[in-house]
Amino acid sequence: MNNLSKPLMIVLSSPSGAGKTTLSKKIQQSDNSFKISVSHTTRKARANEVDGVDYHFVTKEKFKQLLSEDAFYEHSEIFGNYYGTSKSSVNKIIKDKYNVLFDIDWKGAQQLSGYKELNLLKIFILPPSKKELEKRLVARNQDDKESIKNRLFAYSKDIEHSNEYDHVIINDNVENCFNSIKKIISIRLNT
Ligand code: 5GP
Repeated sequence: MNNLSKPLMIVLSSPSGAGKTTLSKKIQQSDNSFKISVSHTTRKARANEVDGVDYHFVTKEKFKQLLSEDAFYEHSEIFGNYYGTSKSSVNKIIKDKYNVLFDIDWKGAQQLSGYKELNLLKIFILPPSKKELEKRLVARNQDDKESIKNRLFAYSKDIEHSNEYDHVIINDNVENCFNSIKKIISIRLNT
């Protein structure tokens, strides 16, 4: 918890495949004052993903029902699926006196920015280039060709929003990128 006794809320956004999920997990492992906000999604689980850990995987019907109940702080439609941050899971993290880490897109970051009372720190992660991003998406072997094409198409749109963030970091090397983020967090926690 920072010295304002308000939880620090770090938003990590990036074009898909820039390494943000790995970075979020590394931040949480290195600093146990942080908990990752587990989002709801209508996307199908990937082979290595666990329900309730990586995401709460729900049907479109269930997501729409939660939306109608005003259950989300923010939500977004990405590549034909819905993603959202539920109020109850974030409130639980805050109640337990942890800082919060969000792995969400720029549309979600814009919505969270609308809550002026939040102690937000917004970081945008960029891959070194579009070519490198394509290589990573192919290498991680999680998405079919169509999905990779969509993610590359979204890249140019996504990076237009990088100027809405407090910091932009290029992930050319995970360790270097992680160390830069750690430095930024530590400055913010100690001011
Ligand atoms: P993926 O399907 O690769 O796990 O995630 C696709 C995109 O959805 C990523 O950019 C990720 O940051 C974003 N995302 C994941 N959860 C949420 C959420 O709850 N809200 C928003 N706005 N974006 C999310």
